[in-house]
Amino acid sequence: MNRPNPIVAGLTGRCPNCGEGRLFLGFLSVRDECEACEFDLRSADSGDGPAVFVILIAGFVMAFAALFTEVVARPPIWVHLVVFLPLTLALCLGLLRPFKGVMVALQFANRASEARHDGG
Ligand SMILES: [Zn+2]
Repeated sequence: MNRPNPIVAGLTGRCPNCGEGRLFLGFLSVRDECEACEFDLRSADSGDGPAVFVILIAGFVMAFAALFTEVVARPPIWVHLVVFLPLTLALCLGLLRPFKGVMVALQFANRASEARHDGG
């Protein structure tokens, strides 16, 4: 059986095993099993991983954008609040789902659930 590309499956929110069934139930909850191939998706829990990447990336982008705006335009502080708070929220929420999809898919592709820390 041909496995889908984990990056593509993750970005589109599809099952990493078949690339057909939906990965998410709601906004960020991973389904218990794939609706198309009945693959057990609980084994691919990505934990806090996606949030860490989103914080690092969105934090860098928005901090740079806010500093750049301040240095170039020197707007009043309310402009920063009105522009950058919603933008930061939108960027974080927008990145979270595709990142979680990619991390779950990559963990599946690399068999991270089989990794052990006891040397066995
Ligand atoms: Zn599937």
